[in-house]
Amino acid sequence: WSTARRLTAAALKPRVSTTEPTPYSWINPAEAGPSNYAGRLSGKAIAIKENISYTLGPTSCSSDALQGYRPPFNATCVQSLLENGAHIVGQTKMDEFGMGSLTSHMPEHYTPVHNPSGPASDTGPRSAGGSSGGSAAAVAEGSCWAALGTDTGGSVRLPASYCGVVGLKPSYGMISRHGVVAYADSLDCVGILARDVDTVSSVFSTISHPDERDMTCATATTRQSAAALLAFHFPSLSPSSLKGLRIGLPIETHLPSPNVQLPPSLLEHLLSLGATLHAVSLPNLHLALPAYYVLASAEASSNLARYGGVWFGSEKEKEDSREGESGLERRRRMRTEGFGGEVKKRILAGTHALSADEFNNTYLKALHLRHLLRTDFSRLFRVPHPLDPNTFAPPRGIDLLLHPTATRTAPKLDASQRGDEESEYAQDLLTVPASLAGLPAMSVPAGKGEDGWPVGVSLVGQWGMEHVVLWAGQAVD
Ligand code: GLN
Repeated sequence: WSTARRLTAAALKPRVSTTEPTPYSWINPAEAGPSNYAGRLSGKAIAIKENISYTLGPTSCSSDALQGYRPPFNATCVQSLLENGAHIVGQTKMDEFGMGSLTSHMPEHYTPVHNPSGPASDTGPRSAGGSSGGSAAAVAEGSCWAALGTDTGGSVRLPASYCGVVGLKPSYGMISRHGVVAYADSLDCVGILARDVDTVSSVFSTISHPDERDMTCATATTRQSAAALLAFHFPSLSPSSLKGLRIGLPIETHLPSPNVQLPPSLLEHLLSLGATLHAVSLPNLHLALPAYYVLASAEASSNLARYGGVWFGSEKEKEDSREGESGLERRRRMRTEGFGGEVKKRILAGTHALSADEFNNTYLKALHLRHLLRTDFSRLFRVPHPLDPNTFAPPRGIDLLLHPTATRTAPKLDASQRGDEESEYAQDLLTVPASLAGLPAMSVPAGKGEDGWPVGVSLVGQWGMEHVVLWAGQAVD
């Protein structure tokens, strides 16, 4: 590792794109240097979102508050990639601290990521989705074999859908968050983007393992319980046959036109492979978005309190103090200058939700809504929740949910061209439910919309049932 580190450190120059809209802050597969390890990912070029700690590149979360910050250790997931022979070839742009759905909330010296997947005739750049838009665009344009993103409320699945690639958000706790910069701890997941399900699957099996350094990471015992349930309920998984697989179509996700619909040919294909389709209901789905934004902002306001120009940030920033400025004034200045508008908005909203006057009415209410939504899911699945095996699981329940990943195809990047369409937050309508329930969810490309831009569909499974999601995903892909 140390040899690789020396070679790579010399070869890779941090480079922030100011003129071209590249999806990465630096990426150069040819210069990445040899890996000291051989393994199942030998020679594979993998890009990582710039909120995942990597000692050889600034882990800046696309924020001025962390420009130049070099973590002293690799995130566990990055270390697992390296130890299996992968090359980390770039760090991908994101919405600042993961807050956004368009990869457009970033410092002025970054250019927002352009979606490379649409028809050439289209006018005006479209968004790659967010917040892992850089990872999705890098995969879609072929700059890397796979990319890591993070998904708190849809940030891997939404960009995957908009860019026409596969994006997996595993069950909460399946991939260690050690070294992943926290946005909202109870929701944050490391996710994987690639051009096909097989690639996602091999990266997932490399980086999904217990980790003592993250106390929320599933232990070996928990994984064994999930594996036992998988073996019992799905004795013969094979992508060529979905015989016996019960797929639920939530009626609440069937939105009126002009929203994206499930392609009828896809449903016929699933039926022809032996799956059965069932209309199911998630009666509290409409509560997911407000619950998510309260909880995510509350956790973010607490997490982001650690940035004040003292412990993190570049050396220059750490030394930047002004004559006569008190510690508090300096902290205020650093935070005012370091955070962008969207991040400040979330900090204010989250602090408000956690304040003494609002706590019961806002934060606790959102927690309650989250509980209602989790109950909606647990009433549907045939397989009991491995972490809560005593809850009732209906024997004739479903194995997977299937619904469009997004309500629309990629929106225009330029806000003035987007017109009076729904707010940025509304784009997360169909992705936040699985985040709040901690369930595995994967967006798989399912053709093009009327405008010629990619459409993605999501498969959502019981906690720990990634293999079922991947199995059915192969049939869709
Ligand atoms: N768009 C959502 C938000 O801004 C989700 C982001 C994410 O998953 N990181 O919070």
